[in-house]
Amino acid sequence: MNDKSRADGAEVHEACGVFGIYAPGEDVARLTFFGLFALQHRGQESAGIAVAGPDGIQLHRDMGLVTQVFDEQSLARLRGDIAIGHTRYSTTGSSFICNAQPIRVAGPRGDIVLAHNGNLINTRPLRDKLEAEGLTFETTTDSELMATMIAQARAHSHDIPNAVRRVASEWRGAYSTVLLTQHALFGMRDPYGVRPLVIGALNGSHYALASETCALNVVGARFLREVEPGELVMIDDTGLRSYSVIAGRRRAMCIFEFIYFARPDSHIYGKTLHTARQRMGEILAEEHPAEADVVIPVPDTGWPAAIGFARASGISFGEGLIKNRYIHRTFIEPDQRQRDLGVRMKLTPLRETLAGKRVVVVEDSIVRGTTTRNIINLIRDAGATAVHLRISSPPYRFPCFYGIDTFDRRMLLAARLEVEEIRDYLGADSLGYLSVEGLVRAIGLPRSKFCLACFDSRYPIPIPRAMKVSKFSLEEEEPASEES
Ligand code: SF4
Repeated sequence: MNDKSRADGAEVHEACGVFGIYAPGEDVARLTFFGLFALQHRGQESAGIAVAGPDGIQLHRDMGLVTQVFDEQSLARLRGDIAIGHTRYSTTGSSFICNAQPIRVAGPRGDIVLAHNGNLINTRPLRDKLEAEGLTFETTTDSELMATMIAQARAHSHDIPNAVRRVASEWRGAYSTVLLTQHALFGMRDPYGVRPLVIGALNGSHYALASETCALNVVGARFLREVEPGELVMIDDTGLRSYSVIAGRRRAMCIFEFIYFARPDSHIYGKTLHTARQRMGEILAEEHPAEADVVIPVPDTGWPAAIGFARASGISFGEGLIKNRYIHRTFIEPDQRQRDLGVRMKLTPLRETLAGKRVVVVEDSIVRGTTTRNIINLIRDAGATAVHLRISSPPYRFPCFYGIDTFDRRMLLAARLEVEEIRDYLGADSLGYLSVEGLVRAIGLPRSKFCLACFDSRYPIPIPRAMKVSKFSLEEEEPASEES
C-alpha cells in the first residue's frame, strides 16, 4: 500500500498530503518537492506542484509517486516565489490524471490553484446547483468545485479572504487546503479541523504550510502553530495574516491521524505521535495481557505500539516480520489470490525470532482482516506455538465520509463480527483491541477534541441521508450525527 506502511495493505487508504511555501528568492519548487516527499505516506496515486512566478502560474502533475512525477528538468521549469504541492490518494473523484492535484481554475480576477486534503460530503448538490447556473467542470473532484466557487465569488469580493467567506458556509465536510494566486499563498481548514494543517517559519518573512510537521522539518522550517479550524491564513509580501472565514465548531480531529495516518515523527495538538502510539501499546498490554515469549510489530506502523506493549508487559521485544521496503502499491492487485501473494511479497517471517515461541503480534487496526489473517498464517508457518493478536485501536465498525477511502460497512470485519468471531476468523489464539477510553487516555487529550466515528458512529459533521444509506446497508441502524 504505501511506504509508511501498513502491511494490511489492501485496506485503508489515506487521503492526501498538501504543502505550500512562500519564499521569494528560494527554489520553491524544489522545497515543495521535498515537502511532498515527506508526505508521501498520505497518498501515492498522483503528485503535483504549482508555482507562481514571473511567467505566471506553472503547474506540473502526473500519476505516480513524487519521485516518479518529478525530475531535475520538470523542477527546473517551475520557477517562482510561491508554490503549492499535493500528493493524492483518490477520495472524491476517480483515479485519473485529470483528478490529480493541484487543480487550476480560471476566474474573472485571475487563476486560482488549489490542493485539498479531505472530502466534502455535499459535492453533488453543490455541483448540480453550479451546473444549473451554467458552470462546467473538468474533473469529478470536490477540490475543483471549491476552487470554482472561490474563483466565482472573487468576482464580487476583491480579495480571497472575502471570497472564501462568501462560499465556505456552503461546504460540508473536511478540508485542509492550500491555495495559490499570482501573489499570495493561502491555507484554510474546515470548522471542525478534521484533517491537520500546520504553519512553519523559514528565514525572514518566509513561511511554509503542510499537512504534517514532518514536512516542515525537511525544508528547515520551524513549527509556528496549527491553522485553526475555520481559519484562513494569507501569506504575501506583507507577511502572514489570519482571517476567521467560518465560525469554528467543536474540534474533531480524525483520531486515525494519531493511530496510523500521520508519520510517527510528526506532532499534532502538541503531542508527538510516536510517543502517543507507544502509550497505546502500554495501555493495550494493561487491558489485554498475554502469556508470551516475544512481542513483535507488524511493520512499520505497529512498531511504536509493540514497543509500548513489550515495555509494559515485560515481554521481550523482537523483530519477527521483515518488510520489503520497495513495495508501494500492492493495493491495486485485483483479486484475493494475488492479495495473498502480496503479503508474502511484502513480509518475510524471521524463523529465528518466531520458531517455538508464543508470539504477541501488534497491529494498529483491522479493517477487512484479510491481510491480518495472512500475517498470522505466516507467523505460524515460521514455527510460532501461539499467536496472540493485539490491536492498538478499537474495533473499526463504521465507514468514514471525511476523506478516508474505506469500503462500505459490509466490508468492515468488526461491523459484521463480534471480537471472538473475529479471533476465530483470523486464526489467532487470542485477540484484544484497545478500548476507546484507553485510546483517549494514551493520547492524553479530551475525547471531545476528536472524531471517533469509525468506532462509535457519532459523526461530528452530519451525513446526508443518501450517503448514510449507501454505506450503512449492513443493517437498519443509521449513523448518529452529533448535530442531527
Ligand atoms: Fe477519522 Fe474515522 Fe472520523 Fe473518518 S470517521 S475522520 S477515519 S475517525
